[in-house]
Amino acid sequence: MSQWKLIRSSGWDGPIPKEDPKGRWLHLVFDAESAGNVLSLSVLEDLRSTLTRVVEHDGIQAVIVSSAKDGYFCSGADLEIIESADNPDDVYRQCREVQDMFGLLGGFHVPSFCVIDGVCLGGGLELALGCSSRIVVNSPKTRLGLPEVNLGILPGFGGTVRMTRLVGLRKALSWILTGARMPAKAAFKQGVADAMIAPEGFRQSALKIIDQQSQSQLKAFTKRRQQLKSGLLNKIVDGTPFGRNYVSKEALKGIRKKTAGKLPAPEKALEVAVNAAAGKLSACLEKEALEISKLVTGSISKNLVHIFKNSERARRGDASDPQGAWNDSDSLVVLGAGTMGSGVASVALQKGVAVRLRDISVESLKKGLAYIGKQIHQRFRKKRMSREQRDETLSRLTYGKELHGLATAGCVLEAVVERMDVKQSVLADLSTRLPDKTIFATNTSALSVTLIQEGSPVADRVVGLHFFNPVPLMPLVEVIPGEQTSPETVGKALALARKLGKYPVIAKDSPGFLVNRVLTPYLLAASRLFLKGVSGAHIDEVARRHGLPMGPFRLMDEVGLDVGVEVQQTLHSAFGDRYQASHLLGDMVQKGWLGKKSGVGFYRHRGSQASWNNELQIPSNSQSGSSAKLSAEHIVHALIDPMVDEASRCLAEGVVSDAGMLDLAMIMGTGFPPHLGGLLKDADQQGLNHVVDRLEKAHGAGDPRTPCPQLIQRAESGRSFHEGI
Ligand code: NAD
Repeated sequence: MSQWKLIRSSGWDGPIPKEDPKGRWLHLVFDAESAGNVLSLSVLEDLRSTLTRVVEHDGIQAVIVSSAKDGYFCSGADLEIIESADNPDDVYRQCREVQDMFGLLGGFHVPSFCVIDGVCLGGGLELALGCSSRIVVNSPKTRLGLPEVNLGILPGFGGTVRMTRLVGLRKALSWILTGARMPAKAAFKQGVADAMIAPEGFRQSALKIIDQQSQSQLKAFTKRRQQLKSGLLNKIVDGTPFGRNYVSKEALKGIRKKTAGKLPAPEKALEVAVNAAAGKLSACLEKEALEISKLVTGSISKNLVHIFKNSERARRGDASDPQGAWNDSDSLVVLGAGTMGSGVASVALQKGVAVRLRDISVESLKKGLAYIGKQIHQRFRKKRMSREQRDETLSRLTYGKELHGLATAGCVLEAVVERMDVKQSVLADLSTRLPDKTIFATNTSALSVTLIQEGSPVADRVVGLHFFNPVPLMPLVEVIPGEQTSPETVGKALALARKLGKYPVIAKDSPGFLVNRVLTPYLLAASRLFLKGVSGAHIDEVARRHGLPMGPFRLMDEVGLDVGVEVQQTLHSAFGDRYQASHLLGDMVQKGWLGKKSGVGFYRHRGSQASWNNELQIPSNSQSGSSAKLSAEHIVHALIDPMVDEASRCLAEGVVSDAGMLDLAMIMGTGFPPHLGGLLKDADQQGLNHVVDRLEKAHGAGDPRTPCPQLIQRAESGRSFHEGI
């Protein structure tokens, strides 16, 4: 059965209109077999054959394109199409065919109107752009966007070209280069949609508009589009080579600043859009197809799709995940108004949760409240929330030294000092008063959840919920079940993390959990290179050029060297020699050089400026001569290979469920470059035998780490991390 219904009707009462062979509307209704509407190869094939039947209908006034799924228009092309693309010539041909097919939608003998209720992304929006006109339903579910650059490609079903020609180059770039998901209002304001209607009775409202516009052959819509593009600036930008050149250069600067030249997709999308502002339609579409055919068959796009799929798994959850719900009426009690407590409270408030913030120190409470206020006011100032929304958000916060608010709490989250006795006493204080439905989450960075819950009468409701700093910016949350934690508690913790817009990854309750355990070898390797005479500032620069958000020394300064020493010592006592550290960090901590918070660490910090701390002495027995000349490639391997080894051990020990989740956690928890697909995807692509060789050589040269048996076995058998255990 076709996934596109062609129904002639004289009205529009429900998602599937009633058939009337004499009706003046011809409905083209998208009803994919899958739960959502995605453009799979079979959907595209069905559309092709359905469109040939439109010409059979005389006497119609308009074609109306819509979805049979309430509140869901189309979320774009099936990822399968992107993943399986391996031949640029085939991709080029397929894209040209789809571009032409979407073009047909706007070329019937009567106008076509796409009525968009719900998500309309990627290929879905490209399809809508092919129609003569778009009408958006102003509901919270409606989101329009071209997110292709986030997957390392560009809109290649005609979207880059048609968007540019519709709204002009400058506005089009804000859609194409950011991948942002715009609400109905923004789409209407910018001219992507010609009309916006209220959700109640939207089909009737749409029919009224369609009736008028189809009779006048879209006159009012055309006039509005011209007005929106009539400013002098638009004329210069779209109408002159000078204007296009200028916008192109500025946009390229912005792209390079963000991507450091690592991602070709935004640059190519820019090139195609600039070309589309002036060239002949068919030639512009050919260029669009040509550029996407190269991007989609390259490794970067495959890597980004790998990460996207895993992030969706984390965001939505697997069927195998422990189940649990966060109810709208659940509030959050946060204990500790320090860095982490105030961060979590601020995010929760912004996500619609009522928060009670408790601290034993009035000073800390004041600081925490100031931080929360600043975060929320900033959103208001940046017009991300209205005055009413800001006031409503702040009204959901209560605070004080007393432990109130337990009756409605879905979770009590402790973010008090990192001491086992304090955490246990906080839990003991609460345990007789914790309502049955309430879980107790600990934000500990390294303490054992199993030990924290030991002896507690509510042990089954205790779970680790490890947020990363700064909480508003870091998308990862590690969820750590202790030995006695119930599956329902884990389920509720996962639901809470998702409610806060985070990506939860379940990690085993073992020292360093997942991210800190895998990251620490990178920091230790950096110190080792430095002690061999390689410039620290150079190591940081090489790491940044590789795509990491900051180099290892800058990162240690941000985290705090005292914290770093503590983590290293915990891991050293748990795992032995491979976490052996030199005296370097300890000596620095003794001098009071704690990093950014003390103003001095590996760098001297002044405001946002930092310059290398030249007082750092490299010991005289270092081998500065040869090591100082190491290539950037050698430095990158020396930093990253130990992480691959540790990640391999984590997989073998079941610290994390699989390589995909590990890759996601390292990207979202440390900023590992997404275009490389994650730590293990990158290692797979390099060849694990090379990683093992290098680790063995480094061991021969004095590194205490030897590659683990699981990594060696994989390398010897030629099995990648992503092929399973
Ligand atoms: P912080 O020192 O900034 O804040 C701790 C707060 O807890 C202080 O305001 C203190 O007054 C308060 N407090 C102490 N005992 C209390 C009690 N019984 N009830 C209520 N409040 C109490 O510490 P932080 O950096 O926010 O860390 C908090 C927790 O989060 C620690 O377990 C830490 O290991 C963990 N963590 C920290 C980071 C980070 O980067 N800072 C990252 C992840 C996890």
